Amino acid sequence: MNSEAVSDSVGDRRIRALMLLSGGLDSRLAVCVLRKQGIEVQGIVFDSPFFDLAPARAASEQLGVPLHVQDFSADILELLNAPRHGFGSCMNPCIDCHARMLRRAGERMRELGCRFICTGEVLDERPMSQNRASLDLVARESGFAEWIVRPLSAGLLPATEPEQRGWVARDALLSLRGRGRKPQLRLAEQFGLREIPPVAGGCRLTEPNFSRRLRDLKDHEGLNGVRSIFLLRYGRHFRLADKVKLIVGRNEQDNAVLDGTAELYELLLQTEDARGPTGLLPNTANEAQVRFACAICARYSDVPPDRTVMIRVRSPRRSWREAVLPVAPEDIEPLRV
Ligand code: SF4
Repeated sequence: MNSEAVSDSVGDRRIRALMLLSGGLDSRLAVCVLRKQGIEVQGIVFDSPFFDLAPARAASEQLGVPLHVQDFSADILELLNAPRHGFGSCMNPCIDCHARMLRRAGERMRELGCRFICTGEVLDERPMSQNRASLDLVARESGFAEWIVRPLSAGLLPATEPEQRGWVARDALLSLRGRGRKPQLRLAEQFGLREIPPVAGGCRLTEPNFSRRLRDLKDHEGLNGVRSIFLLRYGRHFRLADKVKLIVGRNEQDNAVLDGTAELYELLLQTEDARGPTGLLPNTANEAQVRFACAICARYSDVPPDRTVMIRVRSPRRSWREAVLPVAPEDIEPLRV
């Protein structure tokens, strides 16, 4: 990135920085460290079906930091389909994801009148994604390496452009390292942060159960849009064939979601003569698959296993009934995703 382009783009004398505000304690502290030296901080957070924005919103409110929400769905889908640096222990392409977020932040930085990007990363706090090599790699791949300040560990890292230009006082930045939380908790007290957010969370791609469903979707149907990803959070999932998956509601909320989001190319299955779940199936399912899906729905109804259950099958074009016996649990366990 052209260095002069940054200084030329900043018309006023205030130093303003753009923080990747995850909402975790580290990013909150990084805001406080920069503000202590008079730097105005704004936050940016990335939205997708995988991320929870609540911690960032809470941090924005706690600190009084304006928060810019950037849609990241297309970015993360692209990275999930072809992660250049692979996945972590689940379906988390952290290196690529982090580099892309830094790039997006760098692209927004100038239009928001900010002079540099900052993050709450702490050197070696996470062995894989926050070691020195990883920090350098994501910075390099973002295209904005020299404009990324990490206030909590800056003393252990090479001086960045904002530090060299005197926009940020390097000696007022910190040299935190490692996994211990004690220094952060002490700092939180010093800065008067009473509400301490939990350590982990916020990204479903690091959850094993969610990742298993996502992997199944990628392998059998592809990651082509956000709706099928949104539905991974609801119901029980059964892979009946390569492009045929049944979703069965576990509770009223699941049933309402399945009912409310069914598309023209899908079948809705509902018990007629007993309380039972809603099922969602693509209309490409063949006759045998539809009957088997009905038997699975019957298995989760209130009807005893030896009694026939009537299931109403509906599509926008037609509706019919299937009388089925509930399937035995051992017959469906291998299909569960
Ligand atoms: S934990 Fe999730 S949001 Fe964070 S870098 Fe990894 S994939 Fe991206």
